[in-house]
Amino acid sequence: MGDDFDAIVVGAGLAGCAAAIRLAKGGANVLLVERGAEAGAKNLSGGILWGHDLERILPGWWHEMPIERHIVRKRFGFLTPESATSFDFEDGSWRKEPYVAHSVLRARTDAWLAKQAEAAGATLVTSVPVERLNWEGSRVRGIVQGGEKMTAPVTIVADGTNSRITLGTPIRPEHRLSGEATELGIKEVYRLDAGTIEERFHLGPGEGHAEEWVTGIFPPGVMGGGFFYTNRDTLSLGLIVSVQSLFGRGVYSHDLIERFKLHPAIAARVKGAELVEYGAKLIASGWASRPAAFHGDGWMVAGDAAGFVFSNGIVIQGMNYAVRSGIEAAETALAAKAAGSSSAAQLAEYDHRLESSGILPDFRDFARLDRVKWNPRIYTVYPRFASELLHAMMTETGGRKRSVRHLLRAAQKAAGVSATSLIRDGIEVAFDL
Ligand SMILES: Cc1cc2nc3c(=O)[nH]c(=O)nc-3n(C[C@H](O)[C@H](O)[C@H](O)COP(=O)(O)OP(=O)(O)OC[C@H]3O[C@@H](n4cnc5c(N)ncnc54)[C@H](O)[C@@H]3O)c2cc1C
Repeated sequence: MGDDFDAIVVGAGLAGCAAAIRLAKGGANVLLVERGAEAGAKNLSGGILWGHDLERILPGWWHEMPIERHIVRKRFGFLTPESATSFDFEDGSWRKEPYVAHSVLRARTDAWLAKQAEAAGATLVTSVPVERLNWEGSRVRGIVQGGEKMTAPVTIVADGTNSRITLGTPIRPEHRLSGEATELGIKEVYRLDAGTIEERFHLGPGEGHAEEWVTGIFPPGVMGGGFFYTNRDTLSLGLIVSVQSLFGRGVYSHDLIERFKLHPAIAARVKGAELVEYGAKLIASGWASRPAAFHGDGWMVAGDAAGFVFSNGIVIQGMNYAVRSGIEAAETALAAKAAGSSSAAQLAEYDHRLESSGILPDFRDFARLDRVKWNPRIYTVYPRFASELLHAMMTETGGRKRSVRHLLRAAQKAAGVSATSLIRDGIEVAFDL
């Protein structure tokens, strides 16, 4: 008996939409299934999209896609309860087309991407939470929902982080969620008119500003970073917090986000803005969260479901990897269709593509970073060290001037970081970054 579709894609996030667009444009009969009432309705994302990969399937996409602003400036810094130490990066090329990074709101972008999949010929169904994969022995042949089977020789699983439909199956036999590899993402969106945003952040029309902060402002032991992005007429701010660092500390997420947004440097940015959205989500990131395999007989896993989300404790990048892995899965499915086989051996091409596209090499490298990113000193003594040093260098006291060597020693003492720790952390970062 023939199958209902050439391919079924579970989840209309960035990975699923990218896969469906490429498949439909390649002439495949594809079903894209989303549990939300609309694509993007259930997506929470801080919002900087590095969009190079989209160009492969939607040339000139930034002209049409409902993006918020193209980013022209990034700020990185350290917060202590009393201070903010930061530096800015601006590059002329960021102001020119094709822009490199965009702030986005997922409810808008995902709905638009799903429409592009439909326009290319994919069948999109929403408000349908896929119950499980349709296993025939060790092979996946489509999906099951409400007792009904929809079949296809290839199923691309793109249901996001903590993928439920793969749990307890050969794809993910056991839950690998570990405290170390799990972060809590918290995000708030504030409304502020476009003119005020542009005036406040010295931006031209359509230009955006992004900030990432090491937040040395939390109760002892709690580690995380903060982000702040400008949208068209809203602001996104939020936190990425190590779940492990929260264990047993009796700290609540709303307390952490309050500390961040009440910090004088951040409060000035959201002054007069009205809170319109709040969300929190657990993110299983990186190599430790990968499934048992990325492909098998009749299936492939893409995007966050495959663990392709990178977090360095301050910033998260997953949308770019979602798009790229979705496209690579689609290319593999198209080759399988041409070959008339969706066996595990045929779909092994997906792993080769994940290698050659840089995804797997990147995530192996990031695994080394996992060892250093939750070093408590990054979130405690180093923000203080930067603050003490800059305070001493930037403040005229009326007294005698001190040498930089003296100021460095004084900052080190005030922050409570030994020279040995500084050297050890420096070496670790140099080798693992
Ligand atoms: C607070 C926060 C900030 C972030 N900031 C950034 C950032 O600035 N830049 C960046 O690149 N990345 C960021 N990320 C990560 C980024 O959001 C993800 O990496 C990206 O969304 C992954 O895309 P995806 O398509 O794999 O999964 P998702 O976007 O999660 O999409 C999965 C889709 O599958 C659907 N689904 C789930 N289960 C089912 C089911 N059973 N049946 C049908 N549909 C289902 C969901 O509703 C969803 O639409 C952030 C994440 C968080 C939480």
